[in-house]
Amino acid sequence: MTTLLWFRGDLRLADNPALTAALAERRPVVPVFVLDDEDAGVWAPGGASRWWLHHSLAALGADIARRGGELILARGRAQTAIPRLAAELGAQAVMWNRRYEPWAVVRDERLKADLKGQGLKAASFNAGLLREPWEVMNGKGEPYRVFTPFWRALRSGLELPSAAAAPERIPAPEIQPASERLEDWGLLPTRPDWAGGLRGAWTPGEAGAGERLGAFAGADAPFYADRRNLPAVDGTSRLSPHLHFGEIGPRQIWRAVTAAALAQTGEAMSGGVETFLSEIAWREFSHHLLFHAPTLPEAPLRPEFAAFPWSDDAAGVAAWRTGRTGYPIVDAGMRQLWTTGWMHNRVRMIVASFLIKDLLVHWRTGEDWFWDTLVDADLANNAASWQWVAGSGADASPYFRIFNPVTQGEKFDPDGDYVRRWVPELARLPARLIHAPWTARPLDLADAAVRLGVDYPLPIIDHATARSRALEAYGAIKGRADFI
Ligand code: FAD
Repeated sequence: MTTLLWFRGDLRLADNPALTAALAERRPVVPVFVLDDEDAGVWAPGGASRWWLHHSLAALGADIARRGGELILARGRAQTAIPRLAAELGAQAVMWNRRYEPWAVVRDERLKADLKGQGLKAASFNAGLLREPWEVMNGKGEPYRVFTPFWRALRSGLELPSAAAAPERIPAPEIQPASERLEDWGLLPTRPDWAGGLRGAWTPGEAGAGERLGAFAGADAPFYADRRNLPAVDGTSRLSPHLHFGEIGPRQIWRAVTAAALAQTGEAMSGGVETFLSEIAWREFSHHLLFHAPTLPEAPLRPEFAAFPWSDDAAGVAAWRTGRTGYPIVDAGMRQLWTTGWMHNRVRMIVASFLIKDLLVHWRTGEDWFWDTLVDADLANNAASWQWVAGSGADASPYFRIFNPVTQGEKFDPDGDYVRRWVPELARLPARLIHAPWTARPLDLADAAVRLGVDYPLPIIDHATARSRALEAYGAIKGRADFI
């Protein structure tokens, strides 16, 4: 007689409605995590996410053990693993928090029906969003396609239920089912071990998430609006991987930043808090889009983009991935990504624009690379953001807005500190030259010990030429009758 608590994208014990509901059944609780790569198919977690998942599960397992329980690990299709475990345990009920990836939505619906058909109680809850994607609809009862009215509607009906603290005990059954060993899952890289930079940058797990939120809410949130576009400054929360894995929820974040602002200024939305929460709302909007347009990760939301004349520039893609395009801000971003599993949002936009518009490479190539290398790789946020940059998404940046990597660098990294940190071969160039080293005189290059084309590449493409080519390609689909 037990309750099965199925952990998924909610790897925390506080503010976890499925856990609260499982404990309310007043029976022993068996927490389980299923490594469900087969269910996820091509969207199974990439390399950096697997590294994070390993450490997050280790932290969750330890937190559960401290409370008297045991996290059971299983592998395979959840559709088989969950009913098998429920039968083995004689479980009365199965509880979980919802996920919004299309493959998970379809699977979970089926599984819930199966479990109910077998006479079990099966219930799911919202731990991951401020409001469910089907709750925020326009006056006609349709999903939103534009962010600003979505954000207005999201806020106006927002209620934040009180959050349960992590329980003191998780009652375990007398006999536990067998668990697989986390070490046997091979989630960590070995040959080679490329995760050194990740280890230095992050503390996966609920405690690490709480510490980061605590540090950000009081000290940084007030300045968020001024600093969030400066990649050399630690001005953003860096909560994205914690949010993706559900080590913290958006409701906890909302409460913490507004409470800190209220305490400091007497006003909950003061300073940068409102701007910060609007970014949390972009995450909600991306999930809303994915839920209502499940093809978002694969197909352009604007159908005319299906005919876009993409190029197959293998050498360009290789230079982009390894941070050797010759455009310092692009290369700095791609190297930050490779080393730490994260990239600043402003730079994500710059590198995405470069791949799509300067190299004319399909946004799906960039989406795939980010999927494998980001610790915060998230199907909704990643797909919606790539389509936003490509101009093929809902409420997207227009295609003809093409970022100039030099002026973007000069504007958002004016002292060149971000480039100096990630592209050390240019560290000795003065700020006025660092974003366009090919414009430097031979004497300046010699002073900075830079040999262009030797230590650091010349630009792989001339931006002005690339821009004209991109606009021409765009023109080819623009005239199509179905263009919006
Ligand atoms: P903060 O600025 O502190 O924002 C707080 C939270 O709001 C973030 O943690 C994130 O959950 C959410 N958020 C912020 N900006 C956005 C946005 N534009 N869209 C959706 N949610 C947002 N974010 C991911 O979480 N996973 C991804 O796979 C991802 N891929 C991206 C790909 C591209 C091409 C671009 C341009 C952006 C992508 N983003 C992605 C959005 C954004 O860059 C990151 O969420 C942000 O940089 C994370 O850093 P932070 O936690 O310090 O953000």
